Amino acid sequence: MIGPKIYETVAEMRQAVDAARAQGKRIALVPTMGALHEGHLSLVRAAREHAGHVIVSIFVNPTQFAPTEDFDAYPRDSEADLRLLAGLGVEGVFMPPAEEVYPQGFATAVSVGGPAEGLESATRPHFFGGVATVVTKLLLAALPDVAVFGEKDYQQLCVIRRFVRDLDIPVNILGGPTVREKDGLAMSSRNRYLDADARRTAALVPQVLSEAIDRLDAGEEASTVLADGTARLAEAGFSVDYLELRDAETLAPVDPNGTSAARLLVAAKLGKTRLIDNMNVARPTAGWR
Ligand code: AMP
Repeated sequence: MIGPKIYETVAEMRQAVDAARAQGKRIALVPTMGALHEGHLSLVRAAREHAGHVIVSIFVNPTQFAPTEDFDAYPRDSEADLRLLAGLGVEGVFMPPAEEVYPQGFATAVSVGGPAEGLESATRPHFFGGVATVVTKLLLAALPDVAVFGEKDYQQLCVIRRFVRDLDIPVNILGGPTVREKDGLAMSSRNRYLDADARRTAALVPQVLSEAIDRLDAGEEASTVLADGTARLAEAGFSVDYLELRDAETLAPVDPNGTSAARLLVAAKLGKTRLIDNMNVARPTAGWR
């Protein structure tokens, strides 16, 4: 099996991109922080449908972690990652050292509002600034035709769509559906932190989302449904950051008279592990209550 080419610098990656373009190939980029699982791989497969040259970036981005968060502990396994990507026939992997992304004297950031407000930002105010800055850099470094992101990080996907449009970055953003374990838990590199007990309890997160959606579909009042869901998670030992119903595109609070679809989003901590998840909610015929 021929493994992917590894690019450690922007210059190396650009050279490969130019060569692929000269052969008439389209370029796709799948940004990740590594510790790859089936969720990431599904995005790589989606990328392949749109491009003859697929690049996966693996970079644990320090600027999206607060000092109190898990940057040092974040799982890193580049050997396993490269094996998985070789199996999918990926052409290139961008694995820059931190100094390549943030050279001495780095003093610039992309500032995001709109869909970045609230939800994750309430507990992780540093997060989307870090994501927007690194994703902008990755997009400008690889200059892909398409870039693929997971709906697992739904707010992140909305934020990326927004700043790509606002900054006129010439790339098509694709969203891939959340890949789940058999019991419904959304796959995540951070699931590795869960011990057997916590892993069982974690399945309650998607269950609470599905049950809330059934009740919303049945026309129950959103505030009651959300309060019940939050209480169920709390009883099971979660510390709930939010369980909220938002407009599916702008992430603004749902308009009771509006016609757009909604998204139900949750973040909750189980011990030290913070889990996030979300699901689509079709608008009830009678409107939101
Ligand atoms: P990460 O490595 O966690 O930064 O994730 C890299 C990309 O993979 C992001 O676009 C995530 O939204 C996406 N992703 C992570 N987990 C999943 C999943 N379970 N299903 C689909 N996409 C995912």
